[in-house]
Amino acid sequence: MIPSPTLALVARGQLCTGCGLCAGIGGGAVTMAMTEPGYLRPVQSATLDAAREQGIAAACPAVTIDERPVAPNDDALWGPWHSVGTGYATDAALRHQASSGGMISALLTHALATGLVDFVVQTGADPVLPLANATGVSRDAAAVMAAAGSRYTASAPLAELDRWLAMPGKFAFVGKPCDVSALRARARLDPRVDAKVPLMLAFFCAGIPSAAGTRRILDRLGVAESDVATFRYRGDGWPGYATATRHDGSSERMSYADSWGDILSKQVQFRCKICPDAVGGDADVAAADAWYGDERGYPSFEEQDGRSLVMARTAAGQAILDAAVAAGAVRVEPLAIAEIVRMQPAQARRKRQILSRLAALAVAQRPVPRYRGVGVVAAARQESLVAQAKSFAGLLRRLVKGRA
Ligand SMILES: Cc1cc2nc3c(=O)[nH]c(=O)nc-3n(C[C@H](O)[C@H](O)[C@H](O)COP(=O)(O)OP(=O)(O)OC[C@H]3O[C@@H](n4cnc5c(N)ncnc54)[C@H](O)[C@@H]3O)c2cc1C
Ligand code: SF4
Ligand code: SF4
Repeated sequence: MIPSPTLALVARGQLCTGCGLCAGIGGGAVTMAMTEPGYLRPVQSATLDAAREQGIAAACPAVTIDERPVAPNDDALWGPWHSVGTGYATDAALRHQASSGGMISALLTHALATGLVDFVVQTGADPVLPLANATGVSRDAAAVMAAAGSRYTASAPLAELDRWLAMPGKFAFVGKPCDVSALRARARLDPRVDAKVPLMLAFFCAGIPSAAGTRRILDRLGVAESDVATFRYRGDGWPGYATATRHDGSSERMSYADSWGDILSKQVQFRCKICPDAVGGDADVAAADAWYGDERGYPSFEEQDGRSLVMARTAAGQAILDAAVAAGAVRVEPLAIAEIVRMQPAQARRKRQILSRLAALAVAQRPVPRYRGVGVVAAARQESLVAQAKSFAGLLRRLVKGRA
């Protein structure tokens, strides 16, 4: 077997996002496998032909992020946009079950109900392994609701891309921003993507923690992994609790500040620390938490009715948002773009520091991903020189010590 040069480069730089695209278009030569400490990574078992190698090199988000929708507005920190608002699903049960305001799920349900799409490709809890994720097909509102909520552990939503594209009908896709970027990039080589995927949704993404992080939550909750029947990371309220439910029906729970802040955020994979587009700039619509929080971005309240930040980024995204508002499926109020930084301070800080982190990679002679058109330089101009220097030196020190 001849190893794929692209996958070898990605592995050398620890740049994989775990999106699964290489498996999805690899014709069986690549599969995704769980690797320590709990990230999904590609495993190659046969030589890739030239077309497949080229396809992976052109769309793998570990090596290239270089396209974004053209929109009337573009912000260095928050990406392209037609409109910015806050809102929620009018279905109270969905709003409660979902991660923030249920905006993503309500738009998916609306797209199914109106026939814009025949099915949705989305990620939810693995029915067999309750701590893990599985990507599958939802064909009705009940299935969309069952998959609602954020799952802070590895997902590879594109790992079966060729299979989804070969199925009859059109579909909506939900993924992390890097998954959506990979799918947009794939559209340049595979015309089926634009023909069959009229709607791509993403959420703002602080990064994918390892499965080891989830096991630490269980340890702290005093629940044995073998006892877990279901596991929620949040949702079922806003922000909701990380909740482990045992086979006997009893459950233990932990606040979002403890589960994400104390545990999961410290287990995030390396690539996420140099992510240039964690706000879903390539999506038709991106959603996030519309909460006012502290410096680290945690909500300044215990529990409330959920509220999503929603950014329509393309004409298609604006059209479905408008249609969902008109049909009464969601309520949306406009928001000034300058408000987002108060809701997402950690996202803003990371974006402003990407350039200095890329410089650290170059100095350490590590592979440097190619980011184009995502405002990395413009974002860096908004950061003080002191903060840039600290970010550069901090990453360089960790790279040299092998602790990045
Ligand atoms: C790893 C991760 C990091 C996040 N980081 C941030 C952040 O920094 N800032 C912020 O505001 N919000 C973040 N979120 C998103 C946030 O939690 C909400 O998803 C967002 O507010 C949208 O809420 P909603 O109620 O509209 O979504 P819902 O209606 O609950 O829909 C959520 C959708 O996300 C999909 N999904 C859930 N987990 C995964 C996964 N692991 N991989 C792929 N698809 C998945 C589900 O299939 C569902 O369609 C993160 C979510 C995840 C999974
Ligand atoms: S980022 Fe995606 S396409 Fe690239 S190597 Fe990782 S799983 Fe494959
Ligand atoms: S932070 Fe960026 S690279 Fe990491 S999972 Fe989220 S979108 Fe992908």
